[in-house]
Amino acid sequence: MRTPLIAGNWKMNKTASEAATFARELVQRTITSPAIEIVIAPPFTALDSVRHALGTSSSIGLAGQNLHWEDRGAYTGEVSAPMLKDLGCQYVILGHSERRALFGERDDVIQKKLAAAFRHGLKPILCVGESLGEREAGRTTEIIAGQLKGSLAGFTATQLAMLTIAYEPVWAIGTGKAASPEQAISVHQTIRQFLQREWSAALAQGTRILYGGSVTPQNASSFLASDEIDGALVGGACLQTESFASIADLAQKRTGH
Ligand code: PEP
Repeated sequence: MRTPLIAGNWKMNKTASEAATFARELVQRTITSPAIEIVIAPPFTALDSVRHALGTSSSIGLAGQNLHWEDRGAYTGEVSAPMLKDLGCQYVILGHSERRALFGERDDVIQKKLAAAFRHGLKPILCVGESLGEREAGRTTEIIAGQLKGSLAGFTATQLAMLTIAYEPVWAIGTGKAASPEQAISVHQTIRQFLQREWSAALAQGTRILYGGSVTPQNASSFLASDEIDGALVGGACLQTESFASIADLAQKRTGH
């Protein structure tokens, strides 16, 4: 049984003080239970203030939005896996389409970042997804398989047991045009088939696959209703306490707790 995960990617939003206020509101509003995991990914500059605002009793987890593949060194402006661990992160988002499109991240670089995350016990949330042109050209499966092949090359099933995959069609991110649950389910099945073919049925069945792309409290249930969809990676709708907490509530209801 895969534990559903609702993750909020704040992107480049909220100063450290705004983030602390928001995190305190979120703790007040969110009903946590062991049946689901809730994780938030503030900007690096807000991780410390959010960690303190969440407090030791909150079960809301913390994620970095990216990392550098080396542990330390002359990499101006970068942040490493040990730095994220030290600030209390359990997760890190890797390969987000904005990193790929705006910062030129390729699958081989994402592979090195995944290796750094595994080395330091950070659980990666690997984003994959096709552009609208790729979908319209009937290349969705090929693109997703290529991203998985390139970024997961050389890892063992034991390492990959730490992995969550987020299927995020690029055309659905921040556009208000979410994929249909059927489109998401079909790609999730493709991802599981890939994991089964390249590693094992156990890995394919054990890996959490989230849907991301214009998830809102209004459409979240339609995704979460499927056994193929193990939660959501939420962008825009995670920036307001009520909408993010409502999505988490819906995930919790689905588990029957
Ligand atoms: C994202 O950027 O990961 C995302 C899913 O954004 P949005 O929910 O705003 O589409």
